[in-house]
Amino acid sequence: MISNPSLWQSFFENHCQDDVNRLAGKVSQTGEPASLYVDAGKLTVFQGGALLQELISRPEAVIAHAEEGLARAYNIYNVDLEGCRVRFVNLPQHVRRNIRNIRSGQIGRFVAIEGIIRKATEVKPRIVEAVFECDNCAKKIRVQQETSILQTNVVKPHECPACKSKRVRLLSEESIKIDSQRIKIQEYPENLRGGEQPLTIDVLIEGDIAGRLNPGDRVVINGIVRDEYRKKSYAELVYIYANSFEVLQQEYEDIEITDADRERILELSREHNIHEKIARSIAPAIYGHEDIKLAIALQLFGGIPKKLPDGTELRGDIHILLVGDPGVAKSKIIKYIHRIAPRSVLVTGKGASAAGLTASAVRDELDGRWTAEAGALVLADKGICVVDELDKMRSEDRDAMHDALEDQVVAINKAGLNVTFRTRCSLLAAANPKFSRFDRYLPLAEQIDLPASLISRFDLIFTVLDEPDRERDREVSLQIITNHDSPEEVRPAIEPELLRKYIAYARQNITRVRLSEEAKRIIVDFYVELRSKAKQGPVPVTARQIEALIRLAEASAKLRLSDVVSREDAELAIRLVLKSLEQIALDPETGELDIDYVMGTPKAQRDKIAVILQIVEELENLTPKGAPEDEIIRTAEEKGIDAERARAILRKLKERGSVFCPRMGYYKVVRLG
Ligand code: ADP
Ligand code: MG
Repeated sequence: MISNPSLWQSFFENHCQDDVNRLAGKVSQTGEPASLYVDAGKLTVFQGGALLQELISRPEAVIAHAEEGLARAYNIYNVDLEGCRVRFVNLPQHVRRNIRNIRSGQIGRFVAIEGIIRKATEVKPRIVEAVFECDNCAKKIRVQQETSILQTNVVKPHECPACKSKRVRLLSEESIKIDSQRIKIQEYPENLRGGEQPLTIDVLIEGDIAGRLNPGDRVVINGIVRDEYRKKSYAELVYIYANSFEVLQQEYEDIEITDADRERILELSREHNIHEKIARSIAPAIYGHEDIKLAIALQLFGGIPKKLPDGTELRGDIHILLVGDPGVAKSKIIKYIHRIAPRSVLVTGKGASAAGLTASAVRDELDGRWTAEAGALVLADKGICVVDELDKMRSEDRDAMHDALEDQVVAINKAGLNVTFRTRCSLLAAANPKFSRFDRYLPLAEQIDLPASLISRFDLIFTVLDEPDRERDREVSLQIITNHDSPEEVRPAIEPELLRKYIAYARQNITRVRLSEEAKRIIVDFYVELRSKAKQGPVPVTARQIEALIRLAEASAKLRLSDVVSREDAELAIRLVLKSLEQIALDPETGELDIDYVMGTPKAQRDKIAVILQIVEELENLTPKGAPEDEIIRTAEEKGIDAERARAILRKLKERGSVFCPRMGYYKVVRLG
């Protein structure tokens, strides 16, 4: 071993003198020991890299040498640097380990791991050197305590070395303590292969680096792999004793764009069908769903968040929900987005962890104390949260979620904790209907177990029905055959790498977007027109849809790399909002848009539709041509539905393809499949 305190002293004096002086200045000002940060890059050349190698294979001993060397090193303030820590950052790539690859075989080695902080305990003192007093002769006995993440009880002396008495007492005030905190790091969800659950590892952070990280932060932890055994079970707990951390930013904002990239991006942005081209680059293996893909494309660009002078914040993030029959590629589409968007977090509604979708106070498994744990929406802050099977989420999550979506913050105020987390993310969710198939004659809210307040937070909701359609079925089956037969042909119009850069470029550069006069007029006209059509009764849209329109129109402008919302941007936004409303807010009885229908219509009205349909079914064998209209109406009247209403419902059912007329005035029920 070449490491020793003198060698480190010469390293500090020859390669880090400025840093040492700065550290000394700080120590002389505060009177407290502090930390010296050493760029490991400097060690790759020092002594041919041999010292760095030793740091990695025997960090415990080498860091002790380094700290002793630092204490001896010259500094211009001539202050004592005893007790100062040496912390290494920027370690070479080969030190990097995946959380899932940290094993007992690496115990005692220096590693660097990268992940998201999922949980951080409070900072509390840990005794490193306990002072005891003998009850019999009053002798003071000092006992070094081992570093422990389990915070096992303080180790007592066996007996008083002077009088052999076994009765000793801990002097807590005189004992030496260190700030201590545990964090839990989770591997990046995006690096997981399909279906894998993210793994976590505990990290013990002590001294001046404790208490500086928060759940949701993406970090590199540099430290020593250690293990400990749990008292009762003897189960091994492998953890990292942190030497240092580096906070990373991994957002669209950080994606590097070269001059060459910029050329290609600008060129693409000038193509007249760029919206369509980007939409086609989303989940190319999935046939159709053009509007959904277009909507998701806009979601990736996002609108512009605003802060009004009175402090009100308006979100720019666009939330989208896909509801529909099983097997229509909902999961496939949203998972594709998860793969291409940075800072995207994928979860299923059941919630992979105790923290669920937002954040919660959970009992710590090691010490039983309450700690705040970040859930998916927090981890996706400044990114996109992709939730499959949203309908299956737990009720606690449901309650917390709509605040998280609208105010973009969640607070935990319980069990003595007082923590707030930001959730500035967009949400892309898929849900399956309760009764396995979506029924277009029932309001959405009755088919998915989601509260109205949450449903109303989505800018766009699309329903996807799996109805037989020769043309479409043919295309879907051909697409699936191609996916299997010649997967290399299934190329996106724009490669994911370039698309990611394109979006990043737009988000970095288009940070303010103005509505053109024309766009303003179109949006106002749309709103006023639609509402005035409904003279009495149903409210087709509410002001909430205007906000959705603006966000979508802004996103459309950003997609073109323009900072002005054009007529076409506004029209596109309107088209998508209308499309969504037609799918969820069209009252089957009146055939009119009614935003309240989403949340359910009075049961009496719905029953009438079901009753008429049932009458047709019962009477359709009355004649070979089907159920005669007069008979249907008469039966309906008997059941309390007046003739005029019964006729209207019958007409609607026919328009919607639920019944058909083999002959004028005769009806049969349409049966699928
Ligand atoms: P869902 O989540 O809606 O239940 P999935 O995403 O699991 O459906 O899709 C079921 C399967 O059917 C997937 O393998 C998907 O690729 C295929 N599939 C469904 N619709 C399409 C489509 N339009 N084009 C190509 N494949 C499709
Ligand atoms: Mg699914």
